[in-house]
Amino acid sequence: LGSVAGATTLTFCTVFSLLYALRLIFSQKKVSEMRRDFINNLTHEFKTPIATVSLALEALLKFDIRKDDQKTVQYLEMAQKENKRLGVMVQKVLNIAASEKGTLRLQLEPLEMHQLLEEVFSQLKIQVEEYGGSLTWEFVRVPIWVYGDAIHLSNVMSNLLDNALKYSVKQPEIKVRTTIHQNELLISVEDTGIGIEKEYIGQVFDKFFRVPTGDIHNVKGFGLGLSYAAMVIQRHMGEITVNSEVGKGSVFTIHLPLLKQRIDEKEIIDC
Ligand code: ADP
Repeated sequence: LGSVAGATTLTFCTVFSLLYALRLIFSQKKVSEMRRDFINNLTHEFKTPIATVSLALEALLKFDIRKDDQKTVQYLEMAQKENKRLGVMVQKVLNIAASEKGTLRLQLEPLEMHQLLEEVFSQLKIQVEEYGGSLTWEFVRVPIWVYGDAIHLSNVMSNLLDNALKYSVKQPEIKVRTTIHQNELLISVEDTGIGIEKEYIGQVFDKFFRVPTGDIHNVKGFGLGLSYAAMVIQRHMGEITVNSEVGKGSVFTIHLPLLKQRIDEKEIIDC
């Protein structure tokens, strides 16, 4: 009887180890596939603006183009726009790399969030309107103070708005609302885009994750924006949540603790 029990335990252990190993291999395969897709996307995403800037500069080196003021401005604007885009992408990758290495530095200070949001909107509104869409906002009527890092919080907002724009099928209608709930500020970004299937919703904040249907709409990305956003908000003692319905749209909500009383201290935290 003892040997039967021993054999059963052995078989159980072997099956268990096998399943465990398979799980490990598959999960590693998944990560390596994600990394491969990431590098492919990165190469593609970086190549396009670099090529456009080179073309614009080449054109500007030609004397007959420079004689034409209108064309000169057109090429300069083209180079500037693409260079900006490149800068944003490089920053995204650097931010994630810094957070991996534990060298992402947050400079916390009292911030009035409506002012910060309006600054982000003024940069993105034109872009949304270029797509024939709209960006509207509804703020609670009082100034809202949080203790936060202006640059990283602006990046988070830009990422959410950028996604709302990228994952739209038709003219994007993006609404941003601020509300106060207990001791928290809620900032919600609502879009009328493609939505996210239930089975993927738990993964959208994972590093490198991209919903497989994303590319049907030829939308490029690195799968880094939301993981960066979640990490930054977490470091502010808050969280990001998402509600979504396929074909209808998504709502991403940032929860941030409110600053109870105005303080003028600054603090630096490395994460
Ligand atoms: P990226 O957009 O660069 O792929 P993100 O980390 O910002 O990376 O988003 C991860 C994935 O979550 C996206 O690839 C997309 O599939 C999905 N997603 C994010 N935001 C939205 C949105 N507003 N609507 C639909 N899908 C979204």
